[in-house]
Amino acid sequence: MKGLAMLGIGKIGWIEKERPVCGPLDAVVRPIALAPCTSDVHTVWEGAIGERNNLILGHEGCGIVEEVGELVKDFKPGDKVMFAAITPDWLSLEAQGGYSMHSGGMLAGWKFSNIEDGVFSEFFRVNQADANLAHLPDSISPAEACMLSDMVPTGFHGAELADIQFGDTVLVIGIGPVGLMSVAAANMRGASRIICVGTRQVCIDAAKGYGATDFISYRQGPIDEQVIKITGGKGVDRVIIAGGGVETFEAAINCLKPGGKIGNVNYLGSGDYINIPRLEWGVGMGHKQINGGLMPGGRLRVEKLASLVEYGKLDVKPLITHEFHGFESVEEALLLMKDKPADLIKPVVMV
Ligand code: NDP
Ligand code: ZN
Repeated sequence: MKGLAMLGIGKIGWIEKERPVCGPLDAVVRPIALAPCTSDVHTVWEGAIGERNNLILGHEGCGIVEEVGELVKDFKPGDKVMFAAITPDWLSLEAQGGYSMHSGGMLAGWKFSNIEDGVFSEFFRVNQADANLAHLPDSISPAEACMLSDMVPTGFHGAELADIQFGDTVLVIGIGPVGLMSVAAANMRGASRIICVGTRQVCIDAAKGYGATDFISYRQGPIDEQVIKITGGKGVDRVIIAGGGVETFEAAINCLKPGGKIGNVNYLGSGDYINIPRLEWGVGMGHKQINGGLMPGGRLRVEKLASLVEYGKLDVKPLITHEFHGFESVEEALLLMKDKPADLIKPVVMV
């Protein structure tokens, strides 16, 4: 079979591989829609998780079941399915401890395009199909299902990590597709004021639709100073970080109220350390929490988040700005993700 792979840091290309072997609990799926991710860009062009050779990329999509293992109960060949980018080992101790995304080691619940071949392939294997696949309802389009793979669960996890409460003033740093879903989630969780950091007009327009109230640009001075100014010196209750680099943490701490919480879902592509300003962190006693996490995957979560789309509580269509057709155009879509033209939020590929 054919797949678009990371050949090494900074290099992608099409390769031929054996079709994946379906274990007794697994399914082999062929894609019907795919989407590239900013994480693929960090992985390939920044080498953020180290060298990977001939590893098929991609972790967002939906598909049709081709084959199932003998112990799979709820799926059969021909079923239309969706899945989360993170496909944990649900039998692991980490999953029993509540951190399925780290099953088998830190970040190891992230298998596609990290430790196993990803989905930019004619066929891909989903481990523990009953726990990691979900049936794709007719009311959800394949393009929408792609957004449910990663953008929705990750953006929403930002709001979970920041522990948004009714009436909170929330700062969302980065309003690409992930940050936009954090805005939507913060809004659903009852945030009052949602201050967004980003410059692309298409993202600003989408953020307004998801409940953003204020916008600042990281290009027009330090984020923290701008936030302190527009909040009349008060700062914010919560911060979600979904863009920028290691320097955003300093700004987040500086404009966070004591007792505030930071939820980070940003994949930090470069830099060795995150600086925490001592004084603004209350000389160690400010109760300013930092929570950073890989999003949880799994069937239950995908089904629950999909039900928000099914029942009209969440519209993911504004995220999809570019549509490609044909499996091979996944390469073009990935390069578009790398170049981030001003009118891009998220591309999808209809296979
Ligand atoms: P985008 O690149 O589309 O968006 C990034 C956002 O950050 C944009 O709004 C951009 O503004 C803004 N930004 C850029 N530079 C700065 C800066 N210096 N300070 C503040 N804001 C800045 O990314 P995505 O939304 O696709 O992804 C966001 C992050 O989430 C990525 O790092 C991605 O890898 C990660 N991710 C994490 C996952 C997880 O499980 N934790 C899963 C999936 C993705 P502008 O409008 O100017 O472009
Ligand atoms: Zn992704």
